[in-house]
Amino acid sequence: MAYRYRCDRCRVAFPTVPTRAAAEQERAQHRLAHGGHVPDHVEYVGAGLDPATRRWLALVVAGGTAMAVWNWVHGR
Ligand SMILES: [Zn+2]
Repeated sequence: MAYRYRCDRCRVAFPTVPTRAAAEQERAQHRLAHGGHVPDHVEYVGAGLDPATRRWLALVVAGGTAMAVWNWVHGR
């Protein structure tokens, strides 16, 4: 689990944290910088995988599927 607070006004995403409570705390602290009024939210960012790892996993899955199809076509 990973959560990240993002400020829509600053266009800034804070580092991911393991719990929503921690992200909400970052939001509460940052909100003070805007005088308490700012459209903001905490977003769920999945299992904490960075984009490079996600791309690699997608390639592995796609490659595995292609191999399964190849075996299915040529194994009959
Ligand atoms: Zn901000």
